[in-house]
Amino acid sequence: MTILYISDIHKIEILKTISIETVFYCNRKCGWCPNKDRQLDRNNVMTEECFERILSEIKEVGFTGEIHPYFRNEPGCDPEIGRKIRRIREVLPDNVVSVNTNGDYGVDVFHEAGAHYVHKNAYDDPNFKQSAHYKVFSNRAGKVSEKPEIKRVQCSLPLLKIMICYNGDIPLCCNDWDCEVKLGNIMERKLIDIWNCDIYRKYRYHHARGADYGKHFALCYKCNQI
Ligand code: SF4
Repeated sequence: MTILYISDIHKIEILKTISIETVFYCNRKCGWCPNKDRQLDRNNVMTEECFERILSEIKEVGFTGEIHPYFRNEPGCDPEIGRKIRRIREVLPDNVVSVNTNGDYGVDVFHEAGAHYVHKNAYDDPNFKQSAHYKVFSNRAGKVSEKPEIKRVQCSLPLLKIMICYNGDIPLCCNDWDCEVKLGNIMERKLIDIWNCDIYRKYRYHHARGADYGKHFALCYKCNQI
């Protein structure tokens, strides 16, 4: 278990995961996912310029941890995902590439590209909900119908993960599906400056200390993140 001290919460070294959404598309409409009611466009593909800039920024800040080559999408829906994983391994050889996939496009593409971990989620298994490590599915900060059964006063996600959307936007966390709390855009601002921006610092500070979600953080107030 990692112990976080309040004096360390703004150091980028505490960051564990960076997600890169190379395409914003999924072939499935799972009941617990905000994508189920959306018409996603396969053409929502991250530009090469954006992808390369992200890799170079990650390298520049000296991040070592997990790279997830997906966010709100199925990574197999990107026909270029193999090449992109190889490129991540090439530019960031000290990082671990971990993939979650529904497996509809197979898993070989990820393995062959050099992903360290490939998790195929058993969405077709009727017992999936019970067998998954979640007791309650995330309601994606109120976007889907799961009720916030557990009200938390702390959440470590703004401290541990950065999510980058296909268009370069960086939302508060992996449950901020619509980028309601936009921290910045990687095409407009350096990663380290986004990490150090006032909004991000405010969320990290209050989440680390225990916040009054109702007053300060409307998005978190709706969220059942466990
Ligand atoms: S509590 Fe807030 S920061 Fe944590 S996952 Fe939910 S919306 Fe994101």
